[in-house]
Amino acid sequence: MGEKSKKFLSEQGYHTLQKPQLSQLLCLKCSAPLPLTKEGNTIKCHACSHINPLPEEYIILRDSKNLHRKNIETAENLYKKISSPPGLLLRVWYNISVAVTSTLGIIMAILLWISGIFLFVFLFIVYMIYYLIAPSIGVNLIDVYGSGVTYSLTFVALSIIFIFPMILNSYVSDFVELRKTLHASLSAIWPDKGTKQALCRGCGAPVEVKKDETYSLCFYCDTQNLVSLPDTWLRSVSGFAKWHFQTIEEAAKTEKSYRKGLRKNIKNWFIGTIIAGLIFWCVGSFISWVDNDSMSIPSWSDLNKNSRIVCSASPGGIIDKEIPVGQFVQEKVFAPIYWIALNQNETISLKTKNLDNVADLYVFNTTNIESTRIFKKMECTTSTDSIQNFVFTAPYKGIFGINTLTYGQVAKPFEIEFKIK
Ligand SMILES: [Zn+2]
Ligand SMILES: [Zn+2]
Repeated sequence: MGEKSKKFLSEQGYHTLQKPQLSQLLCLKCSAPLPLTKEGNTIKCHACSHINPLPEEYIILRDSKNLHRKNIETAENLYKKISSPPGLLLRVWYNISVAVTSTLGIIMAILLWISGIFLFVFLFIVYMIYYLIAPSIGVNLIDVYGSGVTYSLTFVALSIIFIFPMILNSYVSDFVELRKTLHASLSAIWPDKGTKQALCRGCGAPVEVKKDETYSLCFYCDTQNLVSLPDTWLRSVSGFAKWHFQTIEEAAKTEKSYRKGLRKNIKNWFIGTIIAGLIFWCVGSFISWVDNDSMSIPSWSDLNKNSRIVCSASPGGIIDKEIPVGQFVQEKVFAPIYWIALNQNETISLKTKNLDNVADLYVFNTTNIESTRIFKKMECTTSTDSIQNFVFTAPYKGIFGINTLTYGQVAKPFEIEFKIK
């Protein structure tokens, strides 16, 4: 029995037999219980085929119920809403779900436990993964969109891919279980042995089953019995909780209120994902802040204003100048760091004119974590007219810094030019 069924049972209680208004009518010949018919004044015994007369008091009881019955037209409509087994897809889904639930539950518990302990390490690993996969996917998402947005969207995507199907799955299985429980409660009783005769689920008296009728009203105790459910479906619901509803209307109302609860889970998932997305935004921003220490890195949009620009940073790491790409500008000394945004496989070249000193330039990426860090000396060629040309080709779309190291005192101003190919 599922969790929901147990909950129903604790709320609704067990099914109890009702006291009939009249004692059961028995066959005069063989004493088998007889189902009261809706019309006619005789009943044929299903066991011995004896035609029994219907006594006066039973006719009166039945006719009063027949009259009453015409007033409850809503019962048929309500019945139609809840009386069919769930669709094939839902049933197959449910059966698979039941089969894997126990194993899946254990795996999920272990995963939660592990990720709880290593949460921070795990979040750092996610951060590193973005750097590690950048050359393969051609872009460093953290550089281009910022770590807050990247973390936030990563979580939302994971939630949609992994958590949402589980929520949906629990909705489906809860729904099917609820339907099973209702059917187990509403169905007439079909004894396994003997003649196929439906018995009232309320008082145990035989009830009439007519073709094309969905439910049968017991004349003895006013209980509505579902009589049209397929045999295979009935067998599959037999183990489910039975609690008592006298009418289908009560059952339909109960189902409606429980389904509301089930839908709430989906709503909670939605809200939860949004809140967690915001938390992950903070986590991502925090990790990137920890990683980059005091260094302030310009954002992707800072480096791509109207056209591509280079930002230079002061010795304190503060961005203090914007340098246009594709033209010579004068510098007294090299800035300690130049920042540039590059697409994958783009080559940046830095040319110096009239710089008499020897310089070493290093390209690095936006992380300090050793295994994902790029720190690479730029190739340099010197031509006869004392132009030095440093080049670097970007392995992925992202932000790169150029670290400068000049040997000796720079005597006079010189010119530099950034070019992107
Ligand atoms: Zn009989
Ligand atoms: Zn009954």
